Amino acid sequence: MHIGCPKEIKPQEFRVGLTPNAAREVLAHGHTVTVETGCGVGAGFVDEDYVAAGAAIVGTAAEVFAAADLIVKVKEPQAVERKMLREGQVLFTYLHLAPDPEQTRDLIASGATCIAYETVTDDRGGLPLLAPMSEVAGRLAPQVGAWTLQKANGGRGVLMGGVPGVGPAQVVVIGGGVVGTHAAKIAAGMGADVTVLDRSLTRLRYLDDVFGGTFKTSYASQGNTAELAAAADMIIGAVLIPGAAAPKLISRAQLADLKPGAALVDVAIDQGGCFETSKATTHQDPIYEVDGIMHYCVANMPGAVARTSTIALGNATLPFLLNLADKGWRKACEDDPHLLNGLNVHAGQLTYYAVGKALGIDV
Ligand code: NAD
Repeated sequence: MHIGCPKEIKPQEFRVGLTPNAAREVLAHGHTVTVETGCGVGAGFVDEDYVAAGAAIVGTAAEVFAAADLIVKVKEPQAVERKMLREGQVLFTYLHLAPDPEQTRDLIASGATCIAYETVTDDRGGLPLLAPMSEVAGRLAPQVGAWTLQKANGGRGVLMGGVPGVGPAQVVVIGGGVVGTHAAKIAAGMGADVTVLDRSLTRLRYLDDVFGGTFKTSYASQGNTAELAAAADMIIGAVLIPGAAAPKLISRAQLADLKPGAALVDVAIDQGGCFETSKATTHQDPIYEVDGIMHYCVANMPGAVARTSTIALGNATLPFLLNLADKGWRKACEDDPHLLNGLNVHAGQLTYYAVGKALGIDV
């Protein structure tokens, strides 16, 4: 099969859908790989890396789309890319169709087979192609929170690990899923005193079994949350209610009870945010202040570490990509119901129920 990887064109997107190492593996399975010149530059991969792996380089995305049977990307195809898709071609990338009727319409009209990373599932009920980005955002959260806490950035002027004779920062993580667990591990590793709150006792039991001694756990009742938040230097919001907007767990009125200069890092901002005063920010201008409390609310945190994110995403997508290439999309999806869950659009038809329901389109 002929696999193609164009350069991402969505603003501020530096990741790439295929690393040189992934290209090497696809080629070792007997397939052909064509990538657009410069596609990996944002993630630190130059054309020579792809050439060394055995891939062909072309000058434009149009040539990639014309040549390839399967297009592998990171972000949803932009309007100009959607025009280049054709009947029978396979697209493997993040799509997030539910809030995007225009893209959905274009993909249906293209006749292509579109498999969305975000709806591929695994045996444990997880989302294996979303998890790597949650891991990245979780591990990044204490790092950006520590920077936000610095005095020059408007923060409290507290060092995560303290020093001998001075206590560490108090960090509260609300939501102990993928993001929250990784955030707590890193914050504890920086020497902070960390407590994770969750509404799931099963999850709290797991965290206590595995991480007891590294960080503490607490049930996310309103009272516990308010009490721990008032004593915190940093609060990391990491909750998720699948398919719903994030619940608001700290109100504007509550900001008056927090320590002046405390840092709120709202990782759940891509679901609307879990603090009432959260509004999405960008890497260019990531923080702002409300009532003396500093907020960091970047909606695409993994973009800050495009190289790590690209490699992490590639590790997760590669087994699926190899299956798609080796077997063809139909047999690959027949053999793997988790990959089949990724199928959102096929041959002029929407095939994913939740998207159809959200957009009022027949499935
Ligand atoms: P997850 O499902 O693994 O974990 C969510 C956790 O929140 C679960 O353990 C759940 O029990 C808990 N929870 C739900 N409601 C709660 C409440 N009211 N109080 C306390 N805990 C509650 O999800 P995840 O992968 O960790 O993702 C968390 C959030 O981070 C999501 O909104 C996701 O979209 C977002 N995210 C953002 C970025 C970014 O760049 N900003 C990147 C990756 C993920």
